[in-house]
Amino acid sequence: MAFESLSERLQGVFKKLRGKGKLTEKDIKEAMREVKVALLEADVNFKVVKDFINSVTEKALGQEVMESLTPAQQVIKIVHEELIKLMGSVESRLNLGSKVPAVIMMVGLQGSGKTTACGKLANLLKKQGKNPLLVACDTVRPAAIKQLQVLGANINVPVFTMGDKVDTADIAKASIDYAKSHNVDVVIIDTAGRLHIDDELMEELVRIKEAVHPDEILLVADAMTGQDAVNVASSFNERLDITGVILTKLDGDTRGGAALSIKAVTQKPIKYVGIGEKLGDIEPFYPDRMASRILGMGDVLTLIEKAQAAIDEKKALEMGQKILSKQFTLEDFLEQLRSLKNMGPLDQLLAMIPGVNKSVLKNVEVSEKDLKRIEAIILSMTKEERQNPSIINGSRKRRIARGSGTTIQEVNNLLKQFEETKKMMKRFADIDKDLKRGKLRL
Ligand code: GDP
Repeated sequence: MAFESLSERLQGVFKKLRGKGKLTEKDIKEAMREVKVALLEADVNFKVVKDFINSVTEKALGQEVMESLTPAQQVIKIVHEELIKLMGSVESRLNLGSKVPAVIMMVGLQGSGKTTACGKLANLLKKQGKNPLLVACDTVRPAAIKQLQVLGANINVPVFTMGDKVDTADIAKASIDYAKSHNVDVVIIDTAGRLHIDDELMEELVRIKEAVHPDEILLVADAMTGQDAVNVASSFNERLDITGVILTKLDGDTRGGAALSIKAVTQKPIKYVGIGEKLGDIEPFYPDRMASRILGMGDVLTLIEKAQAAIDEKKALEMGQKILSKQFTLEDFLEQLRSLKNMGPLDQLLAMIPGVNKSVLKNVEVSEKDLKRIEAIILSMTKEERQNPSIINGSRKRRIARGSGTTIQEVNNLLKQFEETKKMMKRFADIDKDLKRGKLRL
């Protein structure tokens, strides 16, 4: 999972600090040395790390921290704030200007996820009530045009193409005329990439830029490539003066270097992150939530938003009450697994909950196939068993396994998962209570 090792390292440093009570200058310096190593190992840009550590150390050594009753907490707070600053402080939205159609030009190296990001963005804008047009200006990569057409067809967004023999600046220009006469309000231009930065590509992109004067020039960069992504962002920025970055593949186990360095190095914000291959796998980038996630404080806000989008609110409320009144049954569990499937990969979701033990994540991961088997098992139980799983003894387990075409081992696993989930739900409920009481600050 993204940032996992950085997150673990930082939490380790802070745990040590918390154990100390009063902090000396030496303690803070020692902790900062460890934070520095953790950031460098996460592939954060060297200069960015240096500035970050200097800034945190200076603040942490200030009188208020050293003399406060909870110095370790204060240091963590400073690191949290500085991480947010590093990533851009505020969420940056698309800036589509006032002319119609607005023009978004997407640029990036081959394989960064540029064409996919065009589809994701079109999908997002469509959901916001816009009428987007995808424009195929990648005439270099074989199949790029076809790929865009398939994406467009999936989300019912038209794709403008003039094949691969026409000059791309001319295609871009023609697409604007097409947009004007077809009630299109946002044009998204997919452009060619290369395996490495090259002059010919940059010149082509500059010509497209001059032809259509985009409102946004978004660089699509692959988070998995770490510092390379940052260097790519710098080069594109120098030539094209980009307006922002879409950082893709944050669902992989990226160490975090790109996300933490791009803004500081290029002065351009990350606007969206890609978190999977599907068209819905895109999220706005919130520096504050990302900082909380890195420091293991969880990302309750994103979780709540996802839940709201996927779960019927009334049902969620009923579920919440059942959990609180301890009447959470296997039937509820099944229903919940079904709605969680709509929210995206479970391990990513659970990682957003503060304090969730990572080893638990492995046990509750559920694939589509698992879900079918779980369904079969639960449906093979009697109503009484579903409501009160504690009565499921050996002979009942044998019967359920036979009835569902599974094994006793699988029935046992399911019951274990159910118990884990109950525990996790209790944690949800506690968070909810803390939020209401104002004890937990988001
Ligand atoms: P392009 O050459 O830059 O246009 O790249 P594509 O859009 O064809 O994407 C390259 C590969 O990356 C494809 O296999 C995509 O499915 C995959 N991809 C794109 N975005 C993401 C993402 O956010 N997460 C993951 N895991 N894969 C992605």
